[in-house]
Amino acid sequence: MLIDVHTHLNNVRFSRDLSAVAERLKESEVFAVVDSSTNLEESKISLELSHRYPFIFSSLGFHPFYAADFDFSLIETYRGFIKSSPKVIAIGEIGLDVKAAVPLARQMDVFKSFLQLAKEFNLTAVIHNRGFKDTILDVISEIGPQRVVFHCFSQDKEFLEKVTAKGYFVSFAGNITFKNAILIKEAAMAAPLDKLLVETDAPFLAPQIIRGKRNEPVYVKEVIKEIASLKKTERDYLEKVLEDNFRKAFAYEG
Ligand SMILES: [Zn+2]
Repeated sequence: MLIDVHTHLNNVRFSRDLSAVAERLKESEVFAVVDSSTNLEESKISLELSHRYPFIFSSLGFHPFYAADFDFSLIETYRGFIKSSPKVIAIGEIGLDVKAAVPLARQMDVFKSFLQLAKEFNLTAVIHNRGFKDTILDVISEIGPQRVVFHCFSQDKEFLEKVTAKGYFVSFAGNITFKNAILIKEAAMAAPLDKLLVETDAPFLAPQIIRGKRNEPVYVKEVIKEIASLKKTERDYLEKVLEDNFRKAFAYEG
């Protein structure tokens, strides 16, 4: 069974043929996908999708790109969403991004509010991180959500060691299959097996074999294939480990 722990089926690029994408998923070996949202509109769609399809779980968040649009009274709205649905298993994606056109102080305020929410409801915090190291680890430690996943891990192995030493999970995406992704490949080789997860981040980050096209959750198998070869492990064994890790990382008992 394959699990895509981070995808965006709520994204507008899936709005026209989502049922076909979902059908392909049903017929594939993909067992579960965690649908990640980046703003209020997407969070609403994500909730809807998780109600429509048993294998879709919802992750509710506000990406740093949208931090300027965030109204803090919305936290109450998000509380309502969480209470309304057992399919919400995570808060994210949330985090910090050096490329966001939003002042860092504002990104930080929004990030902290959602980390608090994750902690309050014992939900996994799914982190988007571009360009930060100790700063982001300090903020997460300060709030202390119960479980943390660094999504689309794209930094070096030294940072990976710091992240996993805190007990956080690291999730690799399709960019690990790119030929020039030396640092990411090295990080994956160094990742402890019990902290490893895989994702597509679809529709983004299509793996090498469909590079430039729209990505879909079924391509999570390309990420697994790459990691199995880097770590010289059997794919069946790796899939089993990844499934166990998914259950632990998201406290999923189904
Ligand atoms: Zn994402």
